Amino acid sequence: MQVTNKDALGKVCVLGFGRTGFGVVEYLAGLSAERVESIVLFGGASAWASEKTAELEARGIRVVCGTDELDDEFDLAIVSPGIPPTSAFFASAVAHAREVIGEPEFAWRESPQRWVGITGTNGKTTTTMLVTALLEAGGLDAKAVGNIGVVATGEIAQRPEGQWFVAELSSFQLATTQRLHPRVGILLNVTPDHLEWHGSLEEYAKAKERLFENFDEADLAIVSVDDGWSRDVAERLEERGLRVCRVSVHGDPGSANAAYVEGGWLRIRAGVCVQALIRRENLSLEGEHNVQNALCAAALALDLGVSLDAVSDVLASFKPLEHRIEPCGEHNGVRFVNDSKATNVDSVEKALTAFESGTVIVLLGGHDKGTELTTLAQAVSSHCRVAVCYGEAGPRIAAALRAVDGTTGLEVVDAVHLADALEAAVKRACPGEVVLLSPACSSFDEFKSFQERGAVFKGLVANMFGGEGA
Ligand code: ADP
Repeated sequence: MQVTNKDALGKVCVLGFGRTGFGVVEYLAGLSAERVESIVLFGGASAWASEKTAELEARGIRVVCGTDELDDEFDLAIVSPGIPPTSAFFASAVAHAREVIGEPEFAWRESPQRWVGITGTNGKTTTTMLVTALLEAGGLDAKAVGNIGVVATGEIAQRPEGQWFVAELSSFQLATTQRLHPRVGILLNVTPDHLEWHGSLEEYAKAKERLFENFDEADLAIVSVDDGWSRDVAERLEERGLRVCRVSVHGDPGSANAAYVEGGWLRIRAGVCVQALIRRENLSLEGEHNVQNALCAAALALDLGVSLDAVSDVLASFKPLEHRIEPCGEHNGVRFVNDSKATNVDSVEKALTAFESGTVIVLLGGHDKGTELTTLAQAVSSHCRVAVCYGEAGPRIAAALRAVDGTTGLEVVDAVHLADALEAAVKRACPGEVVLLSPACSSFDEFKSFQERGAVFKGLVANMFGGEGA
């Protein structure tokens, strides 16, 4: 067990009834009375009592729901990532607690050894899983935690000595960090998303940059320089005198530490030594974005001592994750691909790079986040033969596509639900083409989650073809 920080925590409250809140409460309940004087779990105004909360109450933990107001004073408040700093609930925590932090910060304070942190608008989960696989291939014990769905705090009590935490960190989680200090950090990209939560792109980008807040010369910051926001972060980190590995899929960024593609090879430079990792076409994951993910993950693994051969092997064999450009059948010469996780414009633009131009029938739509659609419309027009637009955002996306200048020959089709959209796509698909669900929107108008949307898509594809196919 790696718990080293034995400071008394005093009176602690936890905000949020989700996986994070319950995970933290479980951990706190296992600490000694000297460390934790009392625990209160607040659910917020829209939370309801449940079997789970009754069970906690039966164990003597006070549970409060139906209000955003904290009713006592606390030494520490640990806030779940779904609660924005701009909310009344968060404000009440600030008013009633001496210190307000998020869950990863708490987990780090309790068990600070061997953390790496991964953030960015897109690619966090893929890169987190890839890093975990790379470290394991190098003989290290690695555990993926954080935004990936594993509450880090919940892992601490049984964390083995020497284990690396590979933490996927969202901007929500980073917004409340203070002392969190991973040994290596990856910033994949910064593109507009979650602006409702953060208020502005500046605030969102700032939250991501907090990953590196406590870095010193011994650490390594791996930062993409392919978008302006991330490039600015790389510059600021260099000005602080930190070791920065610049990453680019477009060529050598020229820095002493760099990961890039040149002459068809993924390459890593550490000082004077340049190592060729793998030919780009031999990467198991498709698309330009996955080249970015692979470069970042490889730079991290090599810095932690994983061998070049182990890195190359994993990059050649790593399987796509569910709902991320996931092949889900081939019928009558048409490939079906589930990219339900593409909930924003950038991820769709990147997904399209995985397929030959003019061979894609893309399904776009879902809950309308009001995102700017110009670049998406251009990318879809130049890459796809057909776009089927469905759901709440369907009409707006269809209008943006129809407004694109030029004679690209894109056929734009309107549909109501995902099932109609798939049917319309199948009717139009020719052998050699790809039907790609990469919706650019969240799923909440029709589904509970992107996972449910992806599962429904795969089920529809299987049913349509009687379950046969590869
Ligand atoms: P996250 O956890 O950040 O949401 P995922 O790995 O789950 O990232 O991928 C989310 C979506 O973004 C998928 O549709 C995937 O194809 C796309 N994607 C993955 N990596 C990148 C990247 N580096 N840049 C842009 N899009 C990406």
